[in-house]
Amino acid sequence: MAIERTLSILKPDATRRNLTGKINALFEEAGLRIVAQKRIKLSDAQAGAFYEVHKARPFYGSLVSSMTGAPVVVQVLEGEGAILKHRDVMGATDPKKAEPHTVRAQFAESIEANSVHGSDSAENAATEIAFFFAGTEILP
Ligand code: UDP
Repeated sequence: MAIERTLSILKPDATRRNLTGKINALFEEAGLRIVAQKRIKLSDAQAGAFYEVHKARPFYGSLVSSMTGAPVVVQVLEGEGAILKHRDVMGATDPKKAEPHTVRAQFAESIEANSVHGSDSAENAATEIAFFFAGTEILP
């Protein structure tokens, strides 16, 4: 399988509860390598642009404000089949439907405050990584 990179975000509900290390441990145990990472506070404009694809959905406004309520940790994860592997470790969007070993089953508070974001395709991973990181900030 090819080495891939994916964009991961530890959401405000996770940083508020001091879960950065516990979630990162699950990623690393799954074989994902954190090759870039920074803690930032998203502006409304940044969160709105990042989730632009969901603009017409009823949860968009609430999602954008939940993403700006506390710092997030944005990170680039690298590994074999990293995009799917990360999605597997994240679990289903709705934590009630997530497999027990996943981040969302263990830590998410709700379908909205579900602790983590992960790119869902190679094309989106490239766009989302470039949204937050310059090439020089990624250190494999
Ligand atoms: N979301 C929500 N309500 C929903 C579906 C999604 O608040 O009914 C939020 C949730 O935080 C989710 C994000 O919108 O992670 C993006 O939704 P997507 O369907 O892309 O899910 P993901 O890829 O994050 O599992």
